[in-house]
Amino acid sequence: MTERYVSVVIVGARGRMGQALTRCVLESDDLTLVGAVDRSDSPGQGEDAARLCGMPESGVLVTDVLRPPRGSIVVDFSLPGATDQNVRRCLECNVPLVLGTTGIGPETRDLLKQAGKDIPIVSAPNFSVGVTLLLRLASIAAKALGPEYETEIFELHHRHKRDAPSGTALRIGESIAKALGRNFDEVAVRSRDKTETQRTPEEIGLAALRGGDSVGEHTVMFLGEGERLELVHRATDRGIFARGALRAARWLADRPPGLYDMADVLGL
Ligand code: NAD
Repeated sequence: MTERYVSVVIVGARGRMGQALTRCVLESDDLTLVGAVDRSDSPGQGEDAARLCGMPESGVLVTDVLRPPRGSIVVDFSLPGATDQNVRRCLECNVPLVLGTTGIGPETRDLLKQAGKDIPIVSAPNFSVGVTLLLRLASIAAKALGPEYETEIFELHHRHKRDAPSGTALRIGESIAKALGRNFDEVAVRSRDKTETQRTPEEIGLAALRGGDSVGEHTVMFLGEGERLELVHRATDRGIFARGALRAARWLADRPPGLYDMADVLGL
């Protein structure tokens, strides 16, 4: 049997996720690291990408230009300000993209939809297999419990996280709203500070906590009369996101153009 290798270019290589991805790629039998990109003023410029995560040299140096070789797949976990440019580079080079960056705005989401007509893209705010299942379970629970159960979503992340609420919390809220036939933007309540009115039954409340080194926790509560159902996911190692993103990269290798999410990768 012929071995199949998937060539990977990591964007945000010096970051927490970039290092976890580099480690996973170098430790795998079927993936090859062919590029590592980070911001021009990043202290890791010109260094060997593997050395940044404490591994033996790989021969792949960190650069500030995304130039994915033909046949490679770009895995981007950087910052939202970089996403549009990276999507355009993938389009120009006709290379698939796995996008993990969170906090992207509506214009970038439109660009992704457009780009999905020409190249295969998997975009997910959370590449963990467990969270992908949580999204599906939350939707099933919302449908089964119905509108008389009120929904609140709570998330906790490390002190360095910039966007709040997390992309995952928003995605959970969207899937619950969809299951209940509601418009998420109309029913989402992100803060109750200075509100003097009671919650409405339709509301989907979101609360964000930041601090310490928590990799990420999400709790969905369905609150009814006399009972409360909670669905909880706790990430203890950011390797889960890296492994999920690389599973998506392998899956994407023979996919036609399209904008996919992690549920597609898992066949849910
Ligand atoms: P980080 O701050 O540790 O790393 C970000 C890296 O991106 C840094 O090295 C930074 O220099 C680099 N960067 C910034 N601008 C860049 C540019 N223009 N070009 C190239 N590189 C650039 O952050 P992190 O914890 O590694 O997270 C990165 C992103 O991934 C965040 O948006 C985070 O929310 C997201 N994330 C997603 C998932 C998921 O499963 N989808 C999981 C964890 C984190």
